[in-house]
Amino acid sequence: MRKPLISANWKMNKTIGETEEFIRAFLPLVKDVTDVDIIIAPPFTSLSAASGLLTGTGVKLAAQNVFYEEKGAFTGEISPAMLLASGCSCVIIGHSERRQYFHETDEVVNKKIGTARKNGLEVILCIGESLKEREENRTFGVLDGQLSGSLKDLTLDGITIAYEPIWAIGTGRTATKEQANEAHSFIRGWLRKNKESADSIRILYGGSVTPENVASLMSEPDVDGGLVGGASLKPDSFAKIVTGAR
Ligand code: PEP
Repeated sequence: MRKPLISANWKMNKTIGETEEFIRAFLPLVKDVTDVDIIIAPPFTSLSAASGLLTGTGVKLAAQNVFYEEKGAFTGEISPAMLLASGCSCVIIGHSERRQYFHETDEVVNKKIGTARKNGLEVILCIGESLKEREENRTFGVLDGQLSGSLKDLTLDGITIAYEPIWAIGTGRTATKEQANEAHSFIRGWLRKNKESADSIRILYGGSVTPENVASLMSEPDVDGGLVGGASLKPDSFAKIVTGAR
């Protein structure tokens, strides 16, 4: 039995003060939740402040990105050690916005996962197809390529997969629960065929998850949780998604 996991992805939203305000309002709303794992991924600048408030609460802290080198002349980049020292135990890697706007390839994603895991960070690996790829019936081929490239020579230890169809991210157009489960079972099948311990790996759905649709998505056997952008920015709404995932 896989425990549900709900992760917020705040993207480039919230200052340090806004992060603290969110966490102070959010924690009381989920204080009795023990049957869903919760992660919050603020921007880098808010990590330390968030860590100060989350320590000891059971809510984990994630970063939204990491670099694949340990240290050195890489202006603007952030290392795994820096994330660990800021209180992170987890990192999101390969989000479609990073692939699209910052040209991250599966090879780069693979290197980032390798360095993050070597340093003990848990990883949420994001994959998903564009609308054009779905319409051309290439969804499974795209997922196959992203999984092979991103997970090359890596075990599944410490890894969660987030299936995020690009056409559903930030658009208000959620995949149907059947579409989500079809993709998730393809991913699970791929993991079973190519890696060890695929049955214990959590596969999250991401793409316009809301308090209204979370229970329906979670009713599918291969949907183990959600990666939530827009609807994670308000304490009330994110808490409702967490409780709706039980
Ligand atoms: C995301 O950022 O990963 C995401 C799924 O965003 P949204 O929930 O806003 O679609």
